[in-house]
Amino acid sequence: MKVAENLQTINETIAKACEQSNRSPEEIKIIAVTKYVSIERAKEALDSGIVDLGENREEGLTAKWEALQDKPTWHFIGSLQTRKVKNIIDKVDYIHSLDRLSLATEINKRANKKIKCLVQVNVSGEESKHGLAPEEVMSFIDELKQYSNIEIAGLMTMAPFTEDKNFLRQCFSKLKNIQLDIQRLELKNAPCTELSMGMSNDYAIAIEEGATMVRIGTALVGEE
Ligand SMILES: *Cc1c(COP(=O)(O)O)cnc(C)c1O
Repeated sequence: MKVAENLQTINETIAKACEQSNRSPEEIKIIAVTKYVSIERAKEALDSGIVDLGENREEGLTAKWEALQDKPTWHFIGSLQTRKVKNIIDKVDYIHSLDRLSLATEINKRANKKIKCLVQVNVSGEESKHGLAPEEVMSFIDELKQYSNIEIAGLMTMAPFTEDKNFLRQCFSKLKNIQLDIQRLELKNAPCTELSMGMSNDYAIAIEEGATMVRIGTALVGEE
């Protein structure tokens, strides 16, 4: 399938989810996750009108970045080892996977400009998932106050692999509530307006529950 055709289907689904929840499709940014696909396919996504690309590994990001430079807006969405920060920091606009203080310290030290970061939250409590526990988020953000190169743009979560739509909905809604609590504080270092949640299988539910960024790989660009 052409990316443009997939994008049309996704835009229709987004429109429906927005109608359900009284939102405007303009509030939602589609991040094309290109980790499984070639540089050519990533280019095709950009030609179809996609602006934001997401990669989850240093190697993948570097390869795509060398070909596309700063044409797209770059999102790093995977778990990030501290020692790899220096290799990606000048290439990315957003880091979605901030989940520990040592990582924040390294980002702050290596960055040459303010980096928009999203705090990754493990809403479902699954042991396999990275991210802070919901009750840890507020104090974590407070600890980042002195990090002048980090702006907390929002929160991110990976939903559990489940068919249970109610459970997914609960997870997304819980993250939305945490995000609102933080946004209301109007912290200088944490506008916290973004909610990065929803992937190929669950982005409609995520949007109904408040997602502003959906990270879509398989359903948009495919898997190879
Ligand atoms: C791979 C990946 C996605 C996209 O997954 P799909 O199911 O292919 O849409 C989204 N977010 C993260 C963090 C990923 O690693």
